[in-house]
Amino acid sequence: MIIVMCKDAPLEEIDAIKKRLIKEHDIEIHESKGTNYHLLGVVGDTSTIDPSSIEANRIVEKLIRVQSPYKKASKMFRPDDSVIDIDGHKLGGKHFGVIAGPCSVESRESLMDLARQIKKSGAHFLRGGAFKPRTSPYSFQGLGEEGIEILNEAKRETGLPIVTEIMSIDKIDYFNENVDIIQVGARNMQNFMLLKELGRTDKPVLLKRGLSATIEELLMAAEYIMSGGNDNVILCERGIRTFEKYTRNTLDISSVPVIKKLSHLPIIVDPSHASGEWWLVEPLAKAAFAVGADGIMIEVHQDPQNAKSDGQQSIKPDKLDHLMDTLKSLSQFLDKSI
Ligand code: PEP
Ligand code: MN
Repeated sequence: MIIVMCKDAPLEEIDAIKKRLIKEHDIEIHESKGTNYHLLGVVGDTSTIDPSSIEANRIVEKLIRVQSPYKKASKMFRPDDSVIDIDGHKLGGKHFGVIAGPCSVESRESLMDLARQIKKSGAHFLRGGAFKPRTSPYSFQGLGEEGIEILNEAKRETGLPIVTEIMSIDKIDYFNENVDIIQVGARNMQNFMLLKELGRTDKPVLLKRGLSATIEELLMAAEYIMSGGNDNVILCERGIRTFEKYTRNTLDISSVPVIKKLSHLPIIVDPSHASGEWWLVEPLAKAAFAVGADGIMIEVHQDPQNAKSDGQQSIKPDKLDHLMDTLKSLSQFLDKSI
């Protein structure tokens, strides 16, 4: 961090800032003085410094951040890619993971049937929303705990670990016991109380990028979970809001290599919510694989026209079979196994 002082800043006031920083943080200060400038180079763990508390000082001209505000999520902190172990199944590093399933768990019969087809396709994890964050309170809100019981029945039969979204803190203990990967949806990416509580568990958390969140905000949200002691975070690019109306969201495909550069955490792509169109799922999934993502999350439904949520972006099981075959043949060119 570089602090640029105003030209006429009194030396005793600069000293006061230096003393405070050294007292309160694990840092060192290297000073550089010229006729027209006076700089403080702050090195060490600057992640604990709140830049606005320094910028608020009238003798500070500006502050330039050199290091990222996140630490545990940063590649500088841990250079090797993190591999997340989910009940013996790996995701990250060389392991490309495919998470597939309906937007919502609708009934026991339909989920069991779908889970069998997903298992047959070669996908690795089963998703299904039980607590649904719907835009309208009049839309299907999910089956709640009954939905998670159904997912567990499918897990017992197929062996596929289950992924489902949490919406409130009071369900953390229940999710901890009954879910393999806890999903934090785009709308809750900055629900900091929820993130902090998830940091107290050691459950893998699938953290989706917020609708209008920057990459740095996504990494800071991951930092909230990790700062509590839970390093098992999987990031998910699910499209962001832009001026483009043709697709539901705009898939920010470059976020994948950017996140790979900044962080050791696995990053997967959700082409279903990113595009909102079933026919865009396969091309975007292929793009995600090619660009270096660690996995994908795909919505699948046997009868999309009658799905209780997100039918328009759900592919049928035969399309998932085809997609899995395509990804497998692509994997020979990429340094990932599927
Ligand atoms: C979902 O995955 O079911 C979902 C609601 O996605 P998002 O939070 O990305 O909108
Ligand atoms: Mn959905």
